[in-house]
Amino acid sequence: MSQQTLLTYSSLRSFRQCRQKWHYQYVLNLQPRFHSPGLTRGLIVHEGIAAFYKSKDAFGIWCQETPAKVRAHLAAVPSDLQTKHEDEISNALDCVLRYAEWAPKNDDFVMKETNLKLVLAINEIPFQMEADGIARREDNTFWLHEIKTATQPMNETIVEMDPQLTTYLWLLDEAGYNMTGIIYTQIPTKILKSGPYAGQEVIRYYLHRTPEQIQAFYLETVRQVFDMLIIETPDGKEGPRIYRSPDRECTWGCQYYGLCRIESQGGDAEEYKKQIYVERELDR
Ligand code: SF4
Repeated sequence: MSQQTLLTYSSLRSFRQCRQKWHYQYVLNLQPRFHSPGLTRGLIVHEGIAAFYKSKDAFGIWCQETPAKVRAHLAAVPSDLQTKHEDEISNALDCVLRYAEWAPKNDDFVMKETNLKLVLAINEIPFQMEADGIARREDNTFWLHEIKTATQPMNETIVEMDPQLTTYLWLLDEAGYNMTGIIYTQIPTKILKSGPYAGQEVIRYYLHRTPEQIQAFYLETVRQVFDMLIIETPDGKEGPRIYRSPDRECTWGCQYYGLCRIESQGGDAEEYKKQIYVERELDR
């Protein structure tokens, strides 16, 4: 990794998961030619909810224009992935419309900003974050608003430990925002019929981080950034990679699985790369 690299929470997470995956994603800058169906769902929902909080007019326009955009997107998706994309697009539209019905009755805040992008330096390396929203509650306190869609919503204890939220609060603190906590909103892709979230249209938690938790996370992140820098040695040769799975049998969800297998078996990785991946845009 060079000093010019833009760090994001996703790159930190990728490095922690598997250094080979991080190498594909953030050193070679490869990304799959087509988004996964789940990512397509997330992008539509975030865009729709940002329009909802912007204004009634903006949301009306979003509702009018999105079906045409979605059809254009579907036309480019390979036929073997189309059904999954169609399902996720329909889930996404349902999530946005359900949220737009639910939120006016349940929000106890005013949304002050949406999709807030910040870039700050850690050890002189720029770190970028994008907060879904900054909300002001009735007692005049400011809160980070994060939105997720979920086929299986997470319980509060698991969300409480989410390091992404700690990273974002720390970055917002550094940028001079005086944040009180996190409003964490999950929209189930389908209203569940059983279990702890049965019948819930939207699930919302109010979470906090102590200054000590934020400081511990800062130190851990600085240490990791240092590791990310030294993995590439000054003579241009990389240090050892650490694989998540030594036999690279990560069929459960690595988007570089095929490439990783071909390389480990000495196959034609260059040809495979050209077919499956494109170069990632550098600020994502
Ligand atoms: S397939 Fe496994 S070992 Fe290979 S890059 Fe992906 S997570 Fe890492």
